[in-house]
Amino acid sequence: MIPYGRQDIAQADIDAVVEVLRSDFLTQGPVVPRFEQAVADYCGVDHAVAVNSATSALHIACMALGLGPGDWLWTSPTTFVASANCALYCGAQVDFVDIDPRTYNLSPEALERKLVTAERDGRLPKVVVPVHLSGQPCDMAAIHALGQRYGFAIVEDASHAIGGRYRDGPIGDCRYSDVTVFSFHPVKVITSAEGGMATTRDAALAGRMALLRSHGITRDPALMSHEPDGPWYYQQVDLGFNYRMTELQGALGLSQMARLDAFVARRHALARRYDRMLEPLPVTVPWQSPDGYSGLHLYVVRLQRDKTNRHHRDVFVAMRDKGIGVNLHYIPVHTQPYYQRLGFKPGDFPQAEAYYAEAISLPMYPTMSEEQQDRVVDALENAFEA
Ligand SMILES: *Cc1c(COP(=O)(O)O)cnc(C)c1O
Repeated sequence: MIPYGRQDIAQADIDAVVEVLRSDFLTQGPVVPRFEQAVADYCGVDHAVAVNSATSALHIACMALGLGPGDWLWTSPTTFVASANCALYCGAQVDFVDIDPRTYNLSPEALERKLVTAERDGRLPKVVVPVHLSGQPCDMAAIHALGQRYGFAIVEDASHAIGGRYRDGPIGDCRYSDVTVFSFHPVKVITSAEGGMATTRDAALAGRMALLRSHGITRDPALMSHEPDGPWYYQQVDLGFNYRMTELQGALGLSQMARLDAFVARRHALARRYDRMLEPLPVTVPWQSPDGYSGLHLYVVRLQRDKTNRHHRDVFVAMRDKGIGVNLHYIPVHTQPYYQRLGFKPGDFPQAEAYYAEAISLPMYPTMSEEQQDRVVDALENAFEA
């Protein structure tokens, strides 16, 4: 099976992890802070807080921003469920903003229309989570301007987008947001096995997130309610979690950072090759915005229904039968049973649903060979011939 995505592990990665295994610290040692510094430096941002997943990072970002009962978080329906679930963890409510039919990212126009109505109804969002789908940055300048006008905070879900750029800065520099979140799951751009990170320019937010990832416990006398009782002393000053990243994960992530640019460049080379080879087929290849440089975590094509009567599902079955691990990113979150129980229903976000009926993620990862890519294209051609 050619998977839709997979990690690229080099000897240097293995050596880095083994070195940690032989060291004094498997967790809470010096390596995770070095990984945080490497990501902060790469992104040109002051603070980076490493955690055990992007899901955890989204959760503590929302908590640090004060999201709670009575508040609303808005995100795109075309995302992984974690971008929305983080609001529910905080006791807040979720709503969605439909996608742009060209970029598949949250549409700033739909956002503005929804904000006008929400302001009238007194239910403006406290946090908006734009998701850089496939790694392609959202229109952050427009979303940020709306944030200034309507007073919401912005958490970028950049789980697909490390190594990408928006306008003249790296994704993660938080020029247009309060926090940016990355995922290091093995299918993503770089990996730490499981792992995530939140970047921010705001020292207070970074401090709150660091506290929340480790039980709400501090050893910093400045944060305590009174003088330490003695050298053993710590205080729990908030209710946090154990969301820490291990040193093994930190070592793998740090080692992968050295190859981040090469990974993304390889993804772009494969994408350009797909673009050329898919030209004769009845699919729309991913549009690349001139405003950014995508991390290209995914290569998503859409069936052109006016050019083929092959069913979406049949194309999937034919590809999977040939050992091609095509996938679908994503089932619109509002149509998940859990979300339907909250009151959402099919039809609520038509662009996201139309995309879902046509989208296919083709395999793409840095170690993919041209021969493997040719097999994917052949299988797709055959799927349309049948
Ligand atoms: C993968 C992913 C997440 C969750 O990442 P984990 O590190 O697995 O928790 C969140 N949002 C998006 C858009 C993702 O693709």
